[in-house]
Amino acid sequence: MLPSFDPWLSGAVAADVALASHSGHRSLRLRRERRLSNLLVSATRGSRLYRRLIGDPAGRRLQDLPITRKADLMGQFDDWVTDPVVRLDALRRFVADRSHIAEPFLGRYVVWESSGSSGQPGIFVQDATSMAVYDALEALRRPMLRSPMQLLDPFCLGESFVFVGATGGHFASAVSVERARRLSPARARSLHSVSFLQRADRIVAELQALAPTIIATYPSAAVLLAEEHVAGRLKHAPREVWTGGESLSNAMRHFIHRAFGCPVTNSYGASEFLSLASECHCGRMHLNSDWAILESVDDRGNAVPAGETGATCLLTNLANHVQPLIRYDLGDRVTLRPAACACGSPLPVINVQGRSDDTLKLCQPGGQAVSVLPLALCTVLEDDAGLFDFQVVQESPCDLLLRTGLCGHDADVALHRARTVLSAFLEGQGAIGVHIHCRSHAVMTQGRSGKVQRVLAFDGSTRRAPAINVDIRRSPVPHPVVADQPLAHPGEAGGPGGSNDSKATAPRLSTRNHRPGVSKRATRPE
Ligand SMILES: [Zn+2]
Repeated sequence: MLPSFDPWLSGAVAADVALASHSGHRSLRLRRERRLSNLLVSATRGSRLYRRLIGDPAGRRLQDLPITRKADLMGQFDDWVTDPVVRLDALRRFVADRSHIAEPFLGRYVVWESSGSSGQPGIFVQDATSMAVYDALEALRRPMLRSPMQLLDPFCLGESFVFVGATGGHFASAVSVERARRLSPARARSLHSVSFLQRADRIVAELQALAPTIIATYPSAAVLLAEEHVAGRLKHAPREVWTGGESLSNAMRHFIHRAFGCPVTNSYGASEFLSLASECHCGRMHLNSDWAILESVDDRGNAVPAGETGATCLLTNLANHVQPLIRYDLGDRVTLRPAACACGSPLPVINVQGRSDDTLKLCQPGGQAVSVLPLALCTVLEDDAGLFDFQVVQESPCDLLLRTGLCGHDADVALHRARTVLSAFLEGQGAIGVHIHCRSHAVMTQGRSGKVQRVLAFDGSTRRAPAINVDIRRSPVPHPVVADQPLAHPGEAGGPGGSNDSKATAPRLSTRNHRPGVSKRATRPE
């Protein structure tokens, strides 16, 4: 079955996104206010949970509404969603089968899951409007890195895109790539995913064979690939590298850029909102404030002034009405920048302090050290061992400490299983003879983001990930946009108001395809 996709709706949303990108602050504010009003009405009508939390939304200010958190929402999932036929037990069965990746749930919803870096996995259901918004934001707000070339190839028919990341589950990035492949068979040959759970030499071999012009991946994986290129093992070099999902420091960016000799662009997204922000030509991260509201707050939930970094941020997703997220604690530390950007965009500039885990360099008998990507290691522990509350500390080139905050018998069982899974994974990576020590009831070390740093490298003789945080994207990595998607010309449509308005506004569609080839990212779990 084809993934759900509404070309008329997508055209209308794309036209509005294009118009909003060049509008003023007042126009953005009006869009935001109208969409927030629609969302509150829709959420309190359709969701029993939000009816209890908010009551009558008339006259309520966003900042006075209660803060919501993933664990609470997931615990009341069937009351949370606005479509009563969407049930958590059915969704769990759906995502348990990996053959369902990018299949429409109930024939109309896109589904992905987030891993539980905060201890609680989530499942997120997207309706057609949400997907139209994510596609349009990704396609139209990402800077064109090679304008002259794109003028010669407006349909990007010569581009090939590879996502390197977690491919074996219903993660947003993997789902996005697979969805684009299914919706556009003509482009499927140039859209690929490569699992980062493989040994580095196998990842290199796949990339060598696919020879992508664009690689989208996590910063740590991009650094690894750049190292492979410098060492001469990866001969191929892409024309662009897109990163997301982790912190990208200046040092990492420059290394990747120098190694491949190509531009590197970063973006910020989450399973809860795929395309929150992307970089402009000036290297600043612009929030898509016409479709998402981010409030930076202190640890009591009070707003912090612009220019100051909050303890966390609250997301209100203005696009998704089937699983509303209103003042949702996203867990990222965000700074809203008061000054305008030199690029002239009316979209506000933000800085995000995100996860910054280390790539491990582990011993290999008689050979060079084996690099193990932190997100690959986390994926194995979460998906194969079912352990979400953990930290891995490298104590020497051949010694790892796996610790958890769990206690008692549960901790013993979980650690035993995790050690077995991790040991097998490391051996598969070529890291032989690594000793894994376990500890329960542990106090975790927090990183600069305020979150637990889950993977810490040995800082004696190994390289640690550069410490400067720039902008990050939390979960998703840029994904390919739906290729061959008909888009309304900006001048052809009045543009949808809220998601409901866009269904009623059927613009005349253009056959123009904006930035095909690729458009969006994958996600790895938060
Ligand atoms: Zn800018």
